[in-house]
Amino acid sequence: MKVVLAKHAGFCMGVRRAVETTLKLVESRHAPIATFGPLIHNPQVLEMLEQKGVAVLDDLPRQAAGTVVIRAHGVPPASKEKLEQSGAAVEDATCPRVVKVQAIIDKYRRQGYTTVIVGDRDHAEVEGLMGHAGEAGVVISGMAELAELKLTPPYIVVSQTTQDEEMFQAITAAILERFPGGKVFNTICDSTHKRQDEVREMCRQVDALVVVGGRNSANTKRLAEIAQGLACPVFLVETEKELDGEQLRGYQSVGVTAGASTPAWIIRQVVETLEAI
Ligand code: SF4
Repeated sequence: MKVVLAKHAGFCMGVRRAVETTLKLVESRHAPIATFGPLIHNPQVLEMLEQKGVAVLDDLPRQAAGTVVIRAHGVPPASKEKLEQSGAAVEDATCPRVVKVQAIIDKYRRQGYTTVIVGDRDHAEVEGLMGHAGEAGVVISGMAELAELKLTPPYIVVSQTTQDEEMFQAITAAILERFPGGKVFNTICDSTHKRQDEVREMCRQVDALVVVGGRNSANTKRLAEIAQGLACPVFLVETEKELDGEQLRGYQSVGVTAGASTPAWIIRQVVETLEAI
């Protein structure tokens, strides 16, 4: 079987930065280290961090000691304030590209604009962005929600950084048609863009695609959905143990890609296992 590994598989800049920041803290500080929410959507990396003593805070603490890391998705400004008031040192590992979206929202909110965020309503990044948009913020998670949308211009449209490009374009065009005059900021991150384009390209060249990543990672699931949409047989696995040799044996060439929170060591194990099939 020919195995083709995507160039843009695995950790994106923001996730790598957040993981490295946390690991450096583990090495340099004796006080407890915790992340506010799971650092990334990958159970194997979370297990490694847990073994190194990194705790996960699910709720905003009233009191905390040591250092609390804000993950790459960012948080609403009110949550950051509460973390700072808790007594812990706050290490903000929000991805610079997410910070840029937050800054756009802040700038236009001050000028009285409404913000439309195209993204998954329950995703931590979108919750953080909504915190910046305040009461004038609205989330659109899919075309089906457009019928209910009520907008009073002026308004801006931004996207969750890991949104599907085609979905964003379609939703934006529909919003502009109903409410002309909005300012659109395509804030989909480069890394997402390249990863998704590569999946489309790969689906034309291979017989099947293996997507490696956490089951609760939105960007990983999106890669699989894109392949499905192109009628490419797709296998979503967290580790090499989930590869089904019997099923995969029937394909002559298999592409491998991975979500932004999948570490290189797991991708390598998947590629090696496939090559051995
Ligand atoms: Fe940052 Fe892009 Fe990674 Fe999101 S996908 S954390 S915006 S580099």
